Amino acid sequence: MARMLPKKDVVIMGLGWTGSVLGEQLTAAGLNVVAIERGPWRDTATDFNVGYMQDELRYAIRKDLFLSPSIEAMTMRNSLAQTALPMRDYGSFLPGHGVGGAGVHWNGHTWRFWESDFQIKTHLTQRYGAAKLKNLQLQDWGPTWSEIEPSFDKFEYLCGVSGKAGNLKGQTQPGGNPFESARSREYPNPPMRMPYASTLFGEKMKEMGYHPFPLPSSNMSQSYVNSLGVRMGECSYCGFCERFACGNYSKASAQTTILPVLMKKPNFELRTESEVLKINLRRDGKTAKSVTYIDRDGHEFEQPGDLIILCGYGLMNVRMLLLSGIGKPYDPKTGEGVVGRNYCYQTGGGGAQLIFKDRQFNPFIGSGALGMALHDFNGDAFDHSKLDFVGGSGIACGQSNGRPIASRPTPPGTPRWGAQWKKATGETYGRVLGIGGQGSSYAVRENYLDLDPTYKDRHGRPLLRITFDFPDNDTRMQNYVTGQIAKIAKAMNPSSMTVGQARKGWNAVPYQSTHNTGGAIMGADPTRSALNRYLQSWDVSNLFVTGASAFPQNAGMNPTGTVAALAFWAAEAIRERYLKHPGPLVPA
Ligand SMILES: Cc1cc2nc3c(=O)[nH]c(=O)nc-3n(C[C@H](O)[C@H](O)[C@H](O)COP(=O)(O)OP(=O)(O)OC[C@H]3O[C@@H](n4cnc5c(N)ncnc54)[C@H](O)[C@@H]3O)c2cc1C
Ligand code: SF4
Repeated sequence: MARMLPKKDVVIMGLGWTGSVLGEQLTAAGLNVVAIERGPWRDTATDFNVGYMQDELRYAIRKDLFLSPSIEAMTMRNSLAQTALPMRDYGSFLPGHGVGGAGVHWNGHTWRFWESDFQIKTHLTQRYGAAKLKNLQLQDWGPTWSEIEPSFDKFEYLCGVSGKAGNLKGQTQPGGNPFESARSREYPNPPMRMPYASTLFGEKMKEMGYHPFPLPSSNMSQSYVNSLGVRMGECSYCGFCERFACGNYSKASAQTTILPVLMKKPNFELRTESEVLKINLRRDGKTAKSVTYIDRDGHEFEQPGDLIILCGYGLMNVRMLLLSGIGKPYDPKTGEGVVGRNYCYQTGGGGAQLIFKDRQFNPFIGSGALGMALHDFNGDAFDHSKLDFVGGSGIACGQSNGRPIASRPTPPGTPRWGAQWKKATGETYGRVLGIGGQGSSYAVRENYLDLDPTYKDRHGRPLLRITFDFPDNDTRMQNYVTGQIAKIAKAMNPSSMTVGQARKGWNAVPYQSTHNTGGAIMGADPTRSALNRYLQSWDVSNLFVTGASAFPQNAGMNPTGTVAALAFWAAEAIRERYLKHPGPLVPA
């Protein structure tokens, strides 16, 4: 029997990126907030110390900071015809665990999706006609660009993003991304200093008539005091960014941007090593009463709250809705139902490796989001009328690390071990320039999330089941962009090069990206979305669900800039609208 606790104004599940944003925004509005976090407390000074943070074996290979499947696993299959099996280790994506969530060990690529991404169905239908979108389940998001833009701005000034504007209030800016949607002001920090490889790539792109620009980066190009008054240090380009926490206070995370302020607030409380098991509904079935959670000693508690906010990472948010019986589960056979619908991922896998025998790139100088990018083949920046797909991909030449264990590039045909491998790895380290792509992922009827009928977690609850494969539209898009990458690579005149190919058959083993989207999507139609335009559940009006689970489909960019913008957007809706008139913010 769970012990009943005193009521709070707000109960937040998970204290990662979105939980911290919501916690700060709602305590600032005077609400009493409790965050219930499954993993441990983590702090830069004590847990991410520069003395040991660069331990590649511990953090990058043995994945010390990530969620272990012994705590929560998932099952996966590529199609309805298959039986899903549990992932025994997280590989394809690496969910976070502990205060700060996956934002602790992210890279810091901080993008804004475009205005056209938010209205993708309307935009593409108007430009190419509805027939072009057949077999795709595309949906508009809800907010207009002028509504959502200030929320992107808030996140960028919180994180101190280093970058160069390409479109200031509708005016194209030299050196920035001309395809981005209008921004109200410049980035808070100048771009990162470019390494040699990215500089060469940028020069060649300009020569070829493309529009290169520096990656928008939450690694600090200079010391910075953020919008909450928290000071961050300049990045040392140490190269231990992705999969690691930053011991230098130079990568934006909840720890370096929000928690120093939030943890001091008397109206904020954090309970760590406590896992939310379920949302409990009131008798009316339309409002949430409380959450049940279990602490590390196995004691169960019921925490009542006027507002419940899911901030547990997209996949976990969807599972929590399904476990709590909130919203109609999606059925891929009928296309009916909303929870689990429009699960998407990130298309990739078509990059190029260029070896230059006469150049030295010093890859040990690196940072999570360091490099030059171009969006000439992203989104709808290029004409698709004669192409057999929609969507696109960013292309970038970055330098994030040259770490001793995993960074061992060799020319094609090299044995994978032994003396010849040793010789090749010694000769090639430092001579490789990589060009990668990160593509859109569009929804199709048969990709979805639900509860597994067989496999259970340590508490006896069904695991989340992922049914996913890369849709034909997306593989065609990726192959087209790979062709462009191959042309660029050839023009750079390397001594040798290899180009990867996009493939069907999503495989959960090799790392691809922790950019899982959809499953509890936002939209205008309650029969086609789980959330309204403010991330409020259509079914339970005092429940808000943050995270990339709200994306109706994924764009060709990393998601967190947009995830966090939506968190600010939801916080504003709660403060400015919901608190004045509790109840549905949009009539169903
Ligand atoms: C290696 C790596 C690199 C990445 N690089 C980038 C990048 O460069 N750019 C980018 O845009 N994105 C990147 N990402 C993705 C980014 O980290 C996520 O988009 C972001 O952290 C999501 O924020 P969130 O608040 O939804 O979830 P998180 O930040 O993961 O927070 C979720 C929190 O909820 C907790 N939780 C989950 N379930 C429960 C429960 N039942 N009860 C209590 N607590 C719970 C978790 O422990 C966690 O702390 C990267 C991710 C990884 C893993
Ligand atoms: S590269 Fe920069 S931001 Fe990343 S961990 Fe090192 S110092 Fe921190």
